[in-house]
Amino acid sequence: MKIIGILTLVFTLLQATAQTQPHIQGTVHIKMSDGLIDCNFRLSNLPPLKEYKIMLNRGMNIRYCTSDSGQVLHYDGYYNGKINGEAIGYYLMKNKKDSFPFLPPAFSIQYKGAFPVYSDTLNSFDYKGFIALNGKTLRATEQSKWYPVIYDVSNDRLLDKYTYDITVYTEDARTVFINGCPPRQERPAHLISQTAVPLLLFAGDYDFLQSGRNYLLNATVDTGTAQTLFRELDKLKAFYAEKLKLPYEGGIYIISHQAVEPFKPGRAWGFTVFPSFAYAGVNFTTLITPAGKLDNKNTAFFAHELAHYYFNGTAGRWFWFWLESATEYLSLKAAEAFTDTSFYHQRIREYVTQIQDKKYPPLARITAANEIDNGYRYMYGPLLLLCFEKQFGQKTTYRILSDIIKKAPREAITLDVFKQTALANKIKEADFDQFYTDYLQSDKALSNTCNSVTDMIRQ
Ligand SMILES: [Zn+2]
Repeated sequence: MKIIGILTLVFTLLQATAQTQPHIQGTVHIKMSDGLIDCNFRLSNLPPLKEYKIMLNRGMNIRYCTSDSGQVLHYDGYYNGKINGEAIGYYLMKNKKDSFPFLPPAFSIQYKGAFPVYSDTLNSFDYKGFIALNGKTLRATEQSKWYPVIYDVSNDRLLDKYTYDITVYTEDARTVFINGCPPRQERPAHLISQTAVPLLLFAGDYDFLQSGRNYLLNATVDTGTAQTLFRELDKLKAFYAEKLKLPYEGGIYIISHQAVEPFKPGRAWGFTVFPSFAYAGVNFTTLITPAGKLDNKNTAFFAHELAHYYFNGTAGRWFWFWLESATEYLSLKAAEAFTDTSFYHQRIREYVTQIQDKKYPPLARITAANEIDNGYRYMYGPLLLLCFEKQFGQKTTYRILSDIIKKAPREAITLDVFKQTALANKIKEADFDQFYTDYLQSDKALSNTCNSVTDMIRQ
């Protein structure tokens, strides 16, 4: 009992101090021509989770897992293992029968996999979770779990963002890129990120263009087009930095890749693994209008994605609201500043049309994160923040969001935190409470919101 008590205390302390970031370190050997990926990783700073799975792409074969003292660890999941999405879930065992009470803070794992190379006949499908080799490049996103991703079972969340220090050995890939670190052409390629990111791996026979901290990988565009694209993106970054009074320091990576399924002419596909944006089937020269700008839609698209630099996750049941709604609100503000007024108004009108007949619970009555579905997080949520802005002003709204961004890494942003932050920014309690009642709590919260923003764009 006593030992358990002490252990619990130790783990509670660990949990309190270990808001430390999971880290992955090691080596990757890639043989592009054979589709071979051979990894040797040590994962550290892992949270003391009781219920967890180590998710690893089902095409990877584990050699063994070891402890920091070099002892080979037992693990389960290799026989009759459970596939979830792209990966099989494993967990570590103290011995053949008994698992560890908690995920150890660190362990090492070696594994390798061979993946088909689609060089002539293509596959019938491709998607973000697929490890795709086309004879020229290798693309593996965090969704593929090409590296071990921890699944926190009790909280139903994936820990797929790591800081990393990885050395990549390859003889047939000219350039190696891992998300968040400038692409490397040295041998071996040493890639480091002190910011936690999802590990998108993109290696191959390609070149890249650089402007400041921004990179364009594997795209056949002239330098002028690339410069214009970067200038447009920098304009959005500068806008956020100025409004939120928070520097935008990160670089971004735009990747052109070729899917391993056939694309009809005109079909395009894009996905984001922040701070990377990957595209297939996109002619980059067409992203820029003849006037030398991003068009309205792409401005709003990039504005949303770039705003994730600030809003990239917090804990708690309002997780999706802060992650996506606040981000989309910022994107609307960028659209207001950089696109035609009619586009900005049209977007708000579209959101109202999409959500007005939904049965969304008021934000204050959300009890679980998954109640905030796509429509709620991308359309209703940003409109709520527009109502807030309408009532308290844009400058105050930016100041409050800025303070929330600073708080998010340390605590769950509850509506009470929202209120305290608002009061700290000189909003009167009675005024906040009125807003709370009308827009966040009332049975009529949704219609109040739709009416208020409709009114706003009519003026
Ligand atoms: Zn988003």
